[in-house]
Amino acid sequence: MPETAFQPTRALPYGRQHITDADVAAVTAALHADYLTQGPTVAEFEKQFAAYVGARYAVAVSNGTAALHLCALALNVQPGQRVITTPLTFAASANCVRYCGGEVHFADIDPATGLIDLLRVRALLEAHPKGYFTGLIPVDFAGLAVDLEAARQLADEFGLWIIEDSCHAPGGFFIDSKGREQLCGNGNFAALAIFSFHPVKHIATGEGGMITTNSEPLFHHLLRLRTHGITRDPADLKREPDGGWYMEMQELGYNYRLPDLNCALGLSQLARADEGLARRRALAARYDAAFAPVPGVRVLAPGRPGHAYHLYVIEVANRKGLYDFLKTKQIFAQVHYIPVHRMPYYEGLGWKAGDFPLVEDYYAHCLSIPLFPTLTDEEQDYVVACISEFVQKHEE
Ligand SMILES: *Cc1c(COP(=O)(O)O)cnc(C)c1O
Repeated sequence: MPETAFQPTRALPYGRQHITDADVAAVTAALHADYLTQGPTVAEFEKQFAAYVGARYAVAVSNGTAALHLCALALNVQPGQRVITTPLTFAASANCVRYCGGEVHFADIDPATGLIDLLRVRALLEAHPKGYFTGLIPVDFAGLAVDLEAARQLADEFGLWIIEDSCHAPGGFFIDSKGREQLCGNGNFAALAIFSFHPVKHIATGEGGMITTNSEPLFHHLLRLRTHGITRDPADLKREPDGGWYMEMQELGYNYRLPDLNCALGLSQLARADEGLARRRALAARYDAAFAPVPGVRVLAPGRPGHAYHLYVIEVANRKGLYDFLKTKQIFAQVHYIPVHRMPYYEGLGWKAGDFPLVEDYYAHCLSIPLFPTLTDEEQDYVVACISEFVQKHEE
């Protein structure tokens, strides 16, 4: 057991951003540039992000939630259409369907991984006539990639589109049936994938998000939807321009743009993304080793190749006790997530306790403990020591 003599000099949250002098310099330079928004840094960030995840196209947007909303619009989600997602996610993964008047349905998780259980998705699909459901929104929970090849097979069989919510997993991948690494958001299986640049995620831009796709028509539609439904592209115009100012609002869109300022920060962060990811994986491996001999601490999905480790999740018997104890030690763990179907809003739509027992059982025990690139080995050992101390006292 590590010594507890070490006392951290700062509070240890479950996640936090890493801002360097290079980031500050990049934003300062962006402030002096000609464009604060709608400038060339946006397209540069999109190009480099698309390359990072191995997709053909990327569209930068205001945040991950806006990304989800635009995806639902681009896939033409209509009132009454039914879409399946996981109950173990941030509410936005489900809310985007509601923004368009669609109905959200859930399939329970695989408790070994925290990911939506595709066998349960199949059972749900088979229990209804074909065409009953129109889409699937799997989530790469905690940074572990969903097997999108298997999801694609299901989607093809039942006529579904897929939006991959990859907010937790830039740089993550799964191994396909031919042994190839398939990066999250690479567009090979899902029509669209989305990412968030909220400060707790891998890449921080303050607020920010990205959509990736391999579909050119979807890419162009997303660009238009991001800017009020307005286009200036001569190839898309419905009428003859009557002057150089001419543009057309062709459908109802939004202002979901990401400013150049934020994109400059994103580019600077993206340049270090692999370094941050490597540190997250190294810290996760250290946690795995430290908790292996601790009875009473179950690690969610340890040692999986391709895991991007947005979160490091443990499950314990006395979760509330541990959460409160860690707080007294300046360790601010978090719970991811209260299952979406248990939110009062979704209960108002007819869901209730007991509908998805596996995620509800997971929720009763889960805790996300500190994991971020600047967490030091000493700080991590301290976290392990505090958790071990509590668990030994309270769980035997
Ligand atoms: C963070 C997150 C979102 C929303 O992203 P924002 O940028 O905060 O709007 C959506 N889905 C998941 C799984 C997330 O973690």
